[in-house]
Amino acid sequence: MKIFSADYVLPISADLIENGAVVVDETRIAAIGTREELIEKFPEAAAEHFGEAVIMPGLVNCHSHLEITAMRGFLDDVEADFYSWLMKLTTVRGEKLTAADVKIAALAGALEGARAGVTCFGDIGRFGVAGFEALKTNGLRGILFQETEFSPDDKTAAEDFTKLKDKFLELKATETELVKVGLSPHAPYTVSRRLFEKITDYAVAENIEISIHAAESNQERDFFETGEGFFAELYQKLNLEWNAPKKSPVEYLADLGVLQAAPLLAHGVKVSDADINLIAASRSKIAHCPKSNAKFGHGIAPLERFLDKNVCVGFGSDSVASNNVCDILEEARFATLSARNLPDKKRFLTAREIIETATLGGANALGLGREVGSLETGKQADLIVVSLENIAQQPLHDVYSAILFASNARDVLLTMVAGAELYRDGAATKVDEAEIKRRMKEIGAKMCRQSEKSGRS
Ligand SMILES: [Zn+2]
Repeated sequence: MKIFSADYVLPISADLIENGAVVVDETRIAAIGTREELIEKFPEAAAEHFGEAVIMPGLVNCHSHLEITAMRGFLDDVEADFYSWLMKLTTVRGEKLTAADVKIAALAGALEGARAGVTCFGDIGRFGVAGFEALKTNGLRGILFQETEFSPDDKTAAEDFTKLKDKFLELKATETELVKVGLSPHAPYTVSRRLFEKITDYAVAENIEISIHAAESNQERDFFETGEGFFAELYQKLNLEWNAPKKSPVEYLADLGVLQAAPLLAHGVKVSDADINLIAASRSKIAHCPKSNAKFGHGIAPLERFLDKNVCVGFGSDSVASNNVCDILEEARFATLSARNLPDKKRFLTAREIIETATLGGANALGLGREVGSLETGKQADLIVVSLENIAQQPLHDVYSAILFASNARDVLLTMVAGAELYRDGAATKVDEAEIKRRMKEIGAKMCRQSEKSGRS
């Protein structure tokens, strides 16, 4: 049993505690209150005081792609053209990187998260196993959503489903207390109707979390509403049939019955009021990835309207290929500033509700809100300590505001999951960071050489 105290404790589910403390007993929170009261109540417990800092629940990154961490900065030259972006990603991921490279990249991405105060990931994996193992090795919590391949053809739905289910069950066999598996039918334009139905039936019957990229871009919306544009041309190139349903991607998912599984929808940028009502009524969730959306120029998802309709929202970094960092404090700040800057906003989102979105919101979006996301007696001890001592944070008037508007990943002092420390004072405790960095540099150099070569051929 150990008492962690600081000038401030942010329980999220209750008001800020000044001179606060959290008592951690093995994997759980045994008590929360003021430092004075808890030291008196647990006189035998070891105690550590962090001074001018805040203890808060770990941040949740509910949409990432850890396995493509080696692509950080690598696709920036083609991101103006989504087709080229996708092709460069697919070619390099599939042909140039070895399984060992992908594994190291995922490990690096998960470590970046742990250093930034992320305690829980909702990670999407085409290969799956790399992200899954990276979370486990770093001691993080999370759900790995095993993703479908490109499978837009109804005729192959049975085989496509069997392939997906095999991968899912293989990971499921090595689930741990902390790391679970879900399913990700990638997006409405890459997954056939029949495959969507099969995955939904399976997810509902077996109580499996699912996550889908949905309503991300104008191109996707056009493809569904008018049957034209970028994806229509792509389908034509690939000789695939497409009868546009003449409805939005969210209506399409609702009509297919997919929303019955209450999926976590990544992006939700291009949604109408009717779409938001469908999302709210089905208790589907949103992974809000504002920086990735902005980097692609896709637009701004209506965060304020989601929150006002009581839609459960968490933040996602998306992959570092389109961000280029996993820093949920920065993501939250960017989300707030973007929402406040919209001409049709009705109100100013507050720092407190955004910090709640970054923690408890994300936990709820992953279906884990009963165990994590807030500091409460009996909940899992997933917490972080964020320093408030930097000159860039001074003077301090409001703690929520200081965390949201003046702090970032590099202010995190300690990251703990289920009572175990993963990161403290600049050092990872579960993995060899120097070795991971060395390998990442090697992988980067190899990718450059190979892309120069293929550029010449
Ligand atoms: Zn994504």
